[in-house]
Amino acid sequence: MSIYPTLTNKTYVVMGIANKRSIAWAIAKTLDAAGAKLVLTYAAERFKSGLESLAADLNGEALLLECDVTNDAAIDTTFRTIHEQAGPIQGIAHSIAFADKEALRGEFSEMTRGQFAQALDISAYSLTAVVKAAKPYFAQDASVITLTYLGGERVVPNYNLMGVAKAALDSSVKYLANEYGPHGVRVNAISAGPIRTLSAKGVGDFNSILSELEQKAPLRRNVSAEEVASTGLFLLSSMGSGVTGEVIHVDSGYHIL
Ligand code: NDP
Repeated sequence: MSIYPTLTNKTYVVMGIANKRSIAWAIAKTLDAAGAKLVLTYAAERFKSGLESLAADLNGEALLLECDVTNDAAIDTTFRTIHEQAGPIQGIAHSIAFADKEALRGEFSEMTRGQFAQALDISAYSLTAVVKAAKPYFAQDASVITLTYLGGERVVPNYNLMGVAKAALDSSVKYLANEYGPHGVRVNAISAGPIRTLSAKGVGDFNSILSELEQKAPLRRNVSAEEVASTGLFLLSSMGSGVTGEVIHVDSGYHIL
């Protein structure tokens, strides 16, 4: 018998699959294996065909919808469509971030006002925009997760501007959890250890972040996207029913050092 909860006939929205290395893809596969009905969103038309090829490997048939999180009208349309086509929303995995890679190396204060605004908009505000748009369509005991990183809690070399965005995201999780709790909606974050993805490539000297964790973390190894996804399943399913406003570190224990 599987140790996993069954999510059959429950609708989950996964946002932020760029390719097969994306953390969001591991989350989608895990939810699919648990029987969930999936909605996958992509940022722009040019990413659609790549996502279609990936989605062909899922057990269930996923609904694919465009959703650029910088556009409020697009977010509203996406969530209305999800409700019309897939019913009440049981959960959302928000796995989206962006910063100009010039601001992810060198001196922190060299960033511009424009780089700051864009990174905070896409990487932090978008969580609130998404939750707000989904509000009328949540199932009774819905759950939302987002992906964060230790660089929002303390200084990590080169993470710079994205660290400030993650601090804003972590704080948004707490305020959203408090506001949506009375409506039965839980909001949590997973703080993942470094994983080689497209976004991670943008962070200066990312390899040394990986090797530092491998050498010093209690488990002496890096984590996989699948391990992050397992914690995602826990939080998004009834297994995590008593947990909200939390940041769970899936990082081989590195954050305790
Ligand atoms: P990916 O690059 O695979 O995923 C990032 C996703 O964000 C992409 O799918 C990208 O879409 C999407 N995105 C960017 N801008 C927009 C936008 N305007 N509208 C909609 N989507 C957008 O990298 P990861 O899987 O690593 O990143 C997922 C999350 O995990 C991020 O929040 C990241 O900060 C976090 N994280 C990652 C860690 C790591 O080491 N990899 C560690 C800890 C946290 P597209 O490419 O199509 O534009």
